[in-house]
Amino acid sequence: MSPCQNCHAGCCRSFAVSVSGADIIRIERDLKLDFWDFVCRWEDREGLITRGQAPQFFFEDEPGVPFAICLMHHQSTYVPSTTKCRFLMEGAPDRDFPLGEARCGIYDSRPSACKIFPTRLSSSGQIAEIYDVPSHGRSELLPIYELCPRPWTPADLDPVQTVDDLIVARFEQVFFLQLAKVWNKDPQSWLAFPDFIRFVYEKRLIRKTAEEMEAEIPATIPFIRAA
Ligand code: SF4
Ligand code: SF4
Repeated sequence: MSPCQNCHAGCCRSFAVSVSGADIIRIERDLKLDFWDFVCRWEDREGLITRGQAPQFFFEDEPGVPFAICLMHHQSTYVPSTTKCRFLMEGAPDRDFPLGEARCGIYDSRPSACKIFPTRLSSSGQIAEIYDVPSHGRSELLPIYELCPRPWTPADLDPVQTVDDLIVARFEQVFFLQLAKVWNKDPQSWLAFPDFIRFVYEKRLIRKTAEEMEAEIPATIPFIRAA
């Protein structure tokens, strides 16, 4: 049985989940949601959210402040004064599950960061490694922020899917880092960000003529601003 079965999902309550542009586009499309329904920017002056891995973006309406692009949090229904990922579906606490059961409401479309937890790619890039999960996801050692009830083992995960997910996560993160470099050269307002993201990701699929194929002209994203 997966450690997630019957869990109260301390991970989805503790962490600010960084999303890539690909995550955003996929969730918008699959859930028929708008960017403003689920994406937020969180100040990340200390780099505690992006941890040197996800990109930081700057915006002209908050000059000089680095932001992480994340999933929104909403107030928890059953645990007063705490928040949770806006997609986490909570069950009421009861005698068997005093913290309540919870599950992801967008499981098949969830961000890469959620899919790969708690694994990482080995330095060879060929193997998935399961890392130790701390007892709590936040410094407040509240029961609701407790993480996995037992250590994960390789039997808990699919070795093919896990490596696939890690490789996609790495690719999308590198792409999003490139995007951040372009955006941060001349930051626009937060309000302009969704159109920028949609514009760039629409350009990731192109048609090439036989002549262009022959000429082997490398295809790159035209990093120009949405109007
Ligand atoms: S998207 Fe799903 S898995 Fe990811 S934090 Fe939210 S509820 Fe949890
Ligand atoms: S805290 Fe661990 S066991 Fe619980 S839902 Fe998150 S990943 Fe699964």
